[in-house]
Amino acid sequence: MLATNAISRLLIVDDDPNNIRLLASIFDDEHHEILFATNGSQAVEIAVKEQPDLILLDVMMPEMDGYEVCRFLKADSLTQTIPVIFVTSHSDVKEEILGLEVGAADYISKPFCPAIVKIRVRNQIELKHAREQLTRLVITDGLTNIPNRRCFDQQLEHEWQRASRMNQSLAVAMIDVDWFKKYNDHYGHQAGDDCLRQVAMALTQGAKRASDFVARYGGEEFVLILPTTQHETALMVVENICRALSELALPHELSEFGRVTISAGVAVYVADEYDSAEKLMQNADKALYTAKNQGRNQAVLYQPNKN
Ligand code: GH3
Ligand code: MG
Ligand code: MG
Repeated sequence: MLATNAISRLLIVDDDPNNIRLLASIFDDEHHEILFATNGSQAVEIAVKEQPDLILLDVMMPEMDGYEVCRFLKADSLTQTIPVIFVTSHSDVKEEILGLEVGAADYISKPFCPAIVKIRVRNQIELKHAREQLTRLVITDGLTNIPNRRCFDQQLEHEWQRASRMNQSLAVAMIDVDWFKKYNDHYGHQAGDDCLRQVAMALTQGAKRASDFVARYGGEEFVLILPTTQHETALMVVENICRALSELALPHELSEFGRVTISAGVAVYVADEYDSAEKLMQNADKALYTAKNQGRNQAVLYQPNKN
């Protein structure tokens, strides 16, 4: 259900302002904000910019008709999840089928009953919110509330494609909490969970650029993606994160450092150096292994023939 104080944004599209007024009057209350457009291209533009919760769309419009508008909206990742309801004077079954086929969520014929329009709109908005919540859950780690492994895999593929297409560098880091089994054994699993939340927070704060991406890889392992970042910078960012975490001074009696620390392996892709993102991750993992062997609480950059 929608929160009672939620405000829904509706975009009403019709070439006849009287029809817009009539539909808008149904939603004239504090729970709705109305946007409107009087032609197809204006509708697409507003939908992209304003991200309404739902679009009420007329079919018959000059130049770009409702079906075309709907196809446009459904083909663009920025607008494809916005539910579209056709409102039309057509009562033809074939037209209704066409409307649903081009991706509309519902189809309302005129003359309509305002109470039913209101309920159908509310239903579609509730479904949209439920879908969004599910999507969030699917890509979020429940313990730390940062992106999960599934989300990371998608993001890495996306960044990999972009880096290879644009000939840009791409840095990744595999990060692992030091002596974490001992931490759990000593302080208990609950404290271990709290510790992982703190690590997630420190990583998120340390990856400062808008394009940087942090995820929980699994267990006490985290990953970092730093797009368009070269070797020295990547190593510096990750070293700073290791230091910042150590400076939090979370007590860890069974560690030789007396506090919670992390180790990291960094690998950087620069044009044509690797043929897959998996290889890049494998090398970050090798560098992490070296960091562990060299004493932990440090970041190591992968270098061929060295790690
Ligand atoms: P190293 O310094 O070599 O990384 O040693 P380590 O003890 O950190 O590594 P190891 O892989 O042996 O232990 C990882 C531990 O992480 C074991 C497991 O119980 C703990 N762990 C994994 N996931 C979770 C979790 O979600 N919550 C808690 N509390 N512990 C977890
Ligand atoms: Mg581990
Ligand atoms: Mg560990």
